[in-house]
Amino acid sequence: MIMGMKTLPPQAEMERAYRRSDAGYDGVFFLAVRTTGVFCRPSCPAVKPKPKNVEYFATTQESIFAGYRPCKRCRPMDTNGNPPAWVAQLLKQIEADPSIRITDDDLQTRRIHPAKVRRYFKEHYGMTFQTYQRTQRMGQALDRIRHGDDLTATGMTCGFDSVSGFRDAFERIFGRAPGKSRNADCIVAQMLESPVGPLITCATSRAVCFLEFADRRALESQLRGLSGHFKLPVIPGKNDLLKQLRDELADYFAGRLRQFQVALTYPGTPFQQKVWQQLLKIPYGQTISYAELAKRVGQPGAQRAVGTTNGQNRIAILIPCHRVVNQNGQLGGYGGGLWRKKFLLDHEQRLLSATT
Ligand SMILES: [Zn+2]
Repeated sequence: MIMGMKTLPPQAEMERAYRRSDAGYDGVFFLAVRTTGVFCRPSCPAVKPKPKNVEYFATTQESIFAGYRPCKRCRPMDTNGNPPAWVAQLLKQIEADPSIRITDDDLQTRRIHPAKVRRYFKEHYGMTFQTYQRTQRMGQALDRIRHGDDLTATGMTCGFDSVSGFRDAFERIFGRAPGKSRNADCIVAQMLESPVGPLITCATSRAVCFLEFADRRALESQLRGLSGHFKLPVIPGKNDLLKQLRDELADYFAGRLRQFQVALTYPGTPFQQKVWQQLLKIPYGQTISYAELAKRVGQPGAQRAVGTTNGQNRIAILIPCHRVVNQNGQLGGYGGGLWRKKFLLDHEQRLLSATT
């Protein structure tokens, strides 16, 4: 349903389009702003974010599944003109309070036929009304997690009855299988708590293939990319490898483990492979510069390319991209947020100096 990939125009073109509020691009792409959690049409007059804070999506569904809320000014959900009044009313109510649940009974009470609602949402937004409500709750929940709220409290305040209900909803959204796979194998995904916030971990039956911070905006599209890479569906679950990973991570954060043992798989281009393999060789608690990394992969001067590839690492912490810093000793970038990079480096260095 929503997994059909629509391709996006080149980034420079999209940037130009939204800066000029070019209505010609409406419907071609949507821009989402990381700092506000809102997504817009390119023509929106209310939004002129810095390019580094923008994420692009081909459809409203993808924007929503990535945890963004529709802009109140340009109303990107109204893709085909204004929705009928009864739909607008529902959207408005959810927008005002994403934690409410509008059930079929509620709809009946308002003399709106649930089947009609179902059909409209399916047709126009590519998802059921219930899913739409859930994604809005989840978007709100992810927002809170991003701002450092406790997971339990978050689940509760966002209209989930329990922590397990929150987890289930999380898994339903982020662990969806993109289609039937003839292959018996699949990627199992599990959420883990850690001192640096909830982590999403994934493994095939053979190796760990993904570890990312749960609050990253692009998580859903990352998981979809993962599924595409391996040609396997991602489903919520557990296996022995994820269990081993959980134990090793617990040891790592407790300062009892320096070298992860669990099997990893990280398919990529030959260049990506080379970069990621070099990352694996950087010892615990040590850092190298992007320039040094470029040298080590045999491409001196290619700092930018190795920096980009470093950022494309799908297995955070275990493939220690956090151990690459700027030449001047500053931290440089980190997809999971600089505070996490600092946390990980401080953690490793503290333990290293305690034992030497
Ligand atoms: Zn807008």
